[in-house]
Amino acid sequence: MSSADNESFASFPLDRRLQAAITQAGYDKPTPIQQQAIPVVLEGHDVLGIAQTGTGKTAAFMLPIAHRLAATAVRGTRNPRCLILAPTRELADQIGVAGATFGGAVGLRGVALYGGMSKRPQDEKLRRGVDIVVACPGRLLDHVDERTIDLSAIEILVLDEADQMCDMGFLPDVRRILSHMPKDRQTLFFSATMPNDIRTLSDQILRNPVSIEIGRSAPAATVSHALYPLRENSKGAFLLEMLDREATGKVLIFTRTKRRARHLAEVLDQRGHRVSALQGNMTQNRRQAALEGFREGRYDILVATDLAARGIDVSRISHVINYDMPSTVEAYTHRIGRTGRAELTGEAFTFTTPEDEPLVRGIERVLGSRIERRTLPDFDYGSTPPRQGRPAMQRDGNWTPRGQSVPAANQPRRDSRPRHEGQSRPVQPVQSSRPLQSARPAQTARPASPARPAGQTSPARPSEGRTFGRRPR
Ligand code: AMP
Repeated sequence: MSSADNESFASFPLDRRLQAAITQAGYDKPTPIQQQAIPVVLEGHDVLGIAQTGTGKTAAFMLPIAHRLAATAVRGTRNPRCLILAPTRELADQIGVAGATFGGAVGLRGVALYGGMSKRPQDEKLRRGVDIVVACPGRLLDHVDERTIDLSAIEILVLDEADQMCDMGFLPDVRRILSHMPKDRQTLFFSATMPNDIRTLSDQILRNPVSIEIGRSAPAATVSHALYPLRENSKGAFLLEMLDREATGKVLIFTRTKRRARHLAEVLDQRGHRVSALQGNMTQNRRQAALEGFREGRYDILVATDLAARGIDVSRISHVINYDMPSTVEAYTHRIGRTGRAELTGEAFTFTTPEDEPLVRGIERVLGSRIERRTLPDFDYGSTPPRQGRPAMQRDGNWTPRGQSVPAANQPRRDSRPRHEGQSRPVQPVQSSRPLQSARPAQTARPASPARPAGQTSPARPSEGRTFGRRPR
């Protein structure tokens, strides 16, 4: 089947509960890696995937795994049937959220195992039985050594970010883990790059794998990129300040939702900017008028959602501002492709909150360099450190199938993403003299926890991933 045949999720023979979960997650169409990987994994093949975070890779393996495990449910088994190994707590967190969303939808039980939290709740979960385990290698080996986990029934193994696992010195741990599980299994191997030792490992453990490589075109070199680490509720005031200070031409601003686009355009209008929104709730005529007005210079600013902006072609956009981070690296490249066209220079500014870090890293990999973190001099960031976000999983890192009760505060959230590790300096909350009136923060408050030092991407002991509930020890 060519990937062109897979342009909707409905084309995959996935359990209807998974189809419903996909809709509920708000996924319109499969990303390229999902188009290619889902049918192959469903057919039981091994996969060698060269792809990075931000491509939709997690759902690309979690959806078919959930389908396969649900379709071949083994009664009475308490031993895990699927193991997903990830190098960092952040990634394990993210995978855990996908596991809760999609595995939970078909009644699968899961747990995420990594250091920094007591083993006892993990032992308890394992004793009661789980189907899917997401783990960082070190903590998993602790459980193996203590015989609190039995890997002899693993049917599907996923190695995620294998190159990072290798960089962090996990390869011996991974090999030890492999020795505890059956050779007769399906293995999905994902890596962003293929250095020699990773190639060797993949050759050793994959059987007739289907190779999937997701190439991505980097944005034009004429665009300069900058990140502005912010708290969610500072974004509005910050944008107004930025627009006042920055010499801009045509500015295209992206928001995550239609509602946020409309609100933001209203606020900018109230502040005297020549602005229009472009979002899906508008009639075709009004959308056309907004676009023409922007193209012809009647509006300096267009506030748009990804969907509404699809295919728009406006020349000489000086600035693209990601008021909200896009959901994938592809979407970032796509948005930024609106500026820096035809050898003209352009600026791409992205407001980031701590939850956006995994995606930021994915974007930096595509660009091949670290994106500059900037602050606006003299902007009143306030005095309290930013609240750091964390995925809202249960505190012991496990999830419960749909239909079973999970306290509301612990329900997995689609937008839950790990903290912003690479944040170059602490960002303070705004106490602006110009508060936003109608732009509302989209995220609810989360538990506060201290920021990690700049550039530190892994915990002190590399074998321990981040916990869902507490900071690493
Ligand atoms: P990943 O590469 O798995 O880390 O995914 C990056 C982000 O893309 C996550 O926030 C996912 O929820 C989101 N995502 C995955 N698949 C899709 C899709 N088909 N449509 C829109 N967003 C998606």
